[in-house]
Amino acid sequence: MNLAALKTNFTSNLSGLYPSEEIQSFFNILSEKQLNLSRIEIALNPDRTISEAETAKFKQAIIRLKNHEPIQYIIGETEFYGLLFKVNKYTLIPRPETEELVEYIISEQKLITHNSQPITILDIGTGSGCIAISLAKNLPKAKVSGLDISKGALKIAQQNAELNKVEVEFLQADILKTKPLPKQYDLIVSNPPYVRELEKKHMQQNVLKHEPDSALYVKDEDPLLFYRVISKLAKKHLKPKGKLFFEINEYLADDLTAFLKKEGFQNSEVKKDIFGKDRMIKCNK
Ligand code: GLN
Repeated sequence: MNLAALKTNFTSNLSGLYPSEEIQSFFNILSEKQLNLSRIEIALNPDRTISEAETAKFKQAIIRLKNHEPIQYIIGETEFYGLLFKVNKYTLIPRPETEELVEYIISEQKLITHNSQPITILDIGTGSGCIAISLAKNLPKAKVSGLDISKGALKIAQQNAELNKVEVEFLQADILKTKPLPKQYDLIVSNPPYVRELEKKHMQQNVLKHEPDSALYVKDEDPLLFYRVISKLAKKHLKPKGKLFFEINEYLADDLTAFLKKEGFQNSEVKKDIFGKDRMIKCNK
């Protein structure tokens, strides 16, 4: 088989299931990864011979895509904040809105300390480590730790720290049962589970079927559970004037702002994502 035939076969297998631009994009991503071809090479080499082993990899990918598995899990990696991250079924696939949260933190920190202070940062529910690692990379003086309940996620997070050549300390703990945290921090950040069960009906199969439930969902009756627990821990473990940053559910900004105020946090500020949705909140002790 040649590349052109592989593409025709790939496209016809998936058409109807995904829009044609998305199929084209899947094909390019897989060709880059499995055949080591750049976009230009893919376009210029329709006659490139495809071996049996290579064909088998595409067949496998088709089966997984038919089952709505995200392409990032199929190739085992994704990009976040300009860095490469390994991902698998134990980790959420990092979202663009989380890149905005990282950007928010980095620009604030650079403004305040000009990146010259050795601050301590804790990322709660670190998953693939994307927040912790991109902060460590961009705030080289910071000592960053990441905490997660999932051993599977922490294994990937550790690999991601090595891949991106930063030192991040990873801790395994259930935040809902955590005793005191190991130290005091200048900044605590979290993108905890915040999707209510009632929101599932608007969600895509790829998320519902394949991404880890424990990273995404909360009960309809108690959507702020993680925020409450984390804020209470933050009160004890943030240094004076220490900062708390959260990614939030667009529908819960007001409730969370009221709660943080009640807990005694100051200067809380809600920030919208590029889609104009309330997506981040920052406050200080
Ligand atoms: N923004 C993510 C999504 O919609 C949810 C992330 C989270 O629950 N922390 O899939």
